Amino acid sequence: MASPAYEQILAIQALDLNLRQLDHRHRSHPTREQLAAVDAEIAEVDETLAEIAERHHDLERQRKRLEDEAAIMADKRTAIDGKLYGGKVTASKELLALQDEATMLLTKQTELEDQELELMETLEGVEGERASAGDRRRELDERRAAIQSELDAALAEIEAEVVDLQGRRVEAVAGSDPTLLASYESRKDQFDGVAVARLVNGACDGCHIRLSAVALDQMGKMAEGAVVNCEECGRLLVR
Ligand SMILES: [Zn+2]
Repeated sequence: MASPAYEQILAIQALDLNLRQLDHRHRSHPTREQLAAVDAEIAEVDETLAEIAERHHDLERQRKRLEDEAAIMADKRTAIDGKLYGGKVTASKELLALQDEATMLLTKQTELEDQELELMETLEGVEGERASAGDRRRELDERRAAIQSELDAALAEIEAEVVDLQGRRVEAVAGSDPTLLASYESRKDQFDGVAVARLVNGACDGCHIRLSAVALDQMGKMAEGAVVNCEECGRLLVR
């Protein structure tokens, strides 16, 4: 039976191992991966939305230009109509020329308006794309919020456990042997948290290697609770 001081250090070590596990669970909670995956999808959709917006802007600019040009043609035709029916121009040759120009302008205007209509159809398609990408974005936002709250709840649970264990650790430390605690503290990182081992049937339960007869004999002669390092792995062993 190991000494109470040794048992106390083993208890602290057990708490620390629990804390390490909790820290690992906190950092690598599976929901974090889900969150990262949704964020990647959101970034992709945002890229698509930006590309759609740019395309829409270009098409809209082209459509506006066609509209403006068609309006110029219409204005010119109105001016010609004024001349044709204003009564000031009477020479038939001049009237014919004006009529020809009006026809030409109407043809041009119709062409521009047809092009504008085509563009408007294209724009409608782009708007449809924008709407479905927007729907997808909202869907992802909702999914993200759900995952985030799941993660928050899981982390809060882990954090509560950490607070509880830390409280218990403070109590355990208060009742521990300072020299033994310092030896443990200075070695724990080196041994992945398991710096204190038990001597079980003459073997160190850290590395599972039997101590030499000489070492065992030496330990047998030591005072109860004396600390030695395992000659194989270097962990703390207490008689
Ligand atoms: Zn060992």
